Amino acid sequence: MNLCNERELRALLERHGFRFSKSMGQNFLIDAAVPAAIADASGADRSCGVLEIGPGVGALTAELSERAGKVVSVELDRALLPVLAETMDGLGNVEIVPGDALKLDLSALAAEKFGGLTPVVCANLPYNITSPMLEKLVLTPCFQSVTVLLQKEVAERLSAPEGSGDGGAFSLFLRYYMEPALVLEVPREKFLPRPKVDSALLRCARRTSPAVDAEDEDYFFRVVRGAFLLRRKTIVNSLAAALPERSKDVIREAVRACGLPETVRGERLTLQDFANLSRLLRAAGT
Ligand code: SAM
Repeated sequence: MNLCNERELRALLERHGFRFSKSMGQNFLIDAAVPAAIADASGADRSCGVLEIGPGVGALTAELSERAGKVVSVELDRALLPVLAETMDGLGNVEIVPGDALKLDLSALAAEKFGGLTPVVCANLPYNITSPMLEKLVLTPCFQSVTVLLQKEVAERLSAPEGSGDGGAFSLFLRYYMEPALVLEVPREKFLPRPKVDSALLRCARRTSPAVDAEDEDYFFRVVRGAFLLRRKTIVNSLAAALPERSKDVIREAVRACGLPETVRGERLTLQDFANLSRLLRAAGT
């Protein structure tokens, strides 16, 4: 059957007595060209083991199965398991793992399931878990790339060039480990039920080493987060609130020593600016 044909999809779900859950971010793709394009963009081939988060009825899973060595799909909603048993029947390289992808040890899962294959991630993510899920995937170093369909505005923010004024602490965190690129826009009409927002595909290739030399990563990310603590405030004011052990004068001096104007805001700094600034602030007295 065509899993993206709206009439066939509705009939399948009806037959299984399935009801869409908003809290699980269930919006299924209903244009077969989209999962095919997402699977292509992931770059997955027979040498790859693909982790998919949330297969739904398996439209993207089937496309990944055609290209990858193995596909492991983690699905939270147990009501979808009998549907997937039917739709994935005969796809020998697909394994459905029931569970919450936010809670599973993904490193252990990849090691157990993908022996000898290069682990990558490809998913149409549920909107409500985008940030924690992406953070977890970025911090699981075995995944060489992470290709995810997200709310368009989020994907735009995460792919905005450093210092362009459109990013935030999370964009910098992502860019520190990965090279993000927006590769495809997917309008809301391509989903059932239709969401209130459009989507876009973000492809993140893992860097061989972090984008900058942070010296002390914990302190570096404390400074990055601190720079965005107070929205629409200068970095000096925001960092003064975030780093109470440093005086405002010390912070102002460090910002100047980095060649930045005192009135600059966090969204204008590059990762290299943050590496310089955190190094100076760490070394500075109170
Ligand atoms: N892949 C399908 C597609 O593209 O049509 C469905 C994508 S739908 C946006 C998100 C899927 O993720 C749903 O099947 C939902 O049940 C599942 N899901 C939601 N939260 C999850 C979690 N924490 N762990 C695993 N799956 C989850």
